[in-house]
Amino acid sequence: MGRICVDDDFEKLQGDLERYKERALNLGASRARIVKVSEIPVDEVITLKCQIPRCFGYGTCAHCPPHTLKPAELREHLKKYNWAVFFTRDVAPQVIVRDKATIKERVSAYQDVFNIVSEVESMAFYDGYYLAFGFAAGSCKHTFCGQQESCIALEGKKCRFALRARPSMEAVGIDVYKMAAEAGWDIYPIGSNAKAAEVPKGVLAGIVIVK
Ligand code: SF4
Repeated sequence: MGRICVDDDFEKLQGDLERYKERALNLGASRARIVKVSEIPVDEVITLKCQIPRCFGYGTCAHCPPHTLKPAELREHLKKYNWAVFFTRDVAPQVIVRDKATIKERVSAYQDVFNIVSEVESMAFYDGYYLAFGFAAGSCKHTFCGQQESCIALEGKKCRFALRARPSMEAVGIDVYKMAAEAGWDIYPIGSNAKAAEVPKGVLAGIVIVK
């Protein structure tokens, strides 16, 4: 456990960010990079895509729009941070497309991303970056509570997966496609009608805002 970090030790921070990047890779990320928070694109039009056409997750849980953090709120919070670790995880085409035959593998792939985010966030927290927080991919309703009737957090009860569940990057307005493309990483627009044979590869992403 590290002491609480309030000073600006740039060298130590860069070393720690490298460790978080490595940890993400060791936990199953396909690629990871340290990013400046000022370069994270946050835009209301990303959450517009949750509504038009309406996503099956829209409004179904506490971590999806319209219930979660709004892009404008996130932009304000991010002004207080400088560094983050962004990663993607490759997923086989037949798993990423909406096919009932691979639903278990798909849920598992999304859970992997939530796990990487919560592990790296926790590591940063216990290193002394106590304000670290992260976002994963997809809806926690379908990733963790798919067999449940409803999200109990929306009823004012404790989330069934309080430490692991969190909003997706896209749910709070982060342009994931743009971030991945700007990093030089291949990513494809996979919608509800995508066929595995036409998809070069599936990609899920997560991010931990460290300090
Ligand atoms: S109870 Fe389930 S659906 Fe609701 S916020 Fe928690 S993980 Fe998500």
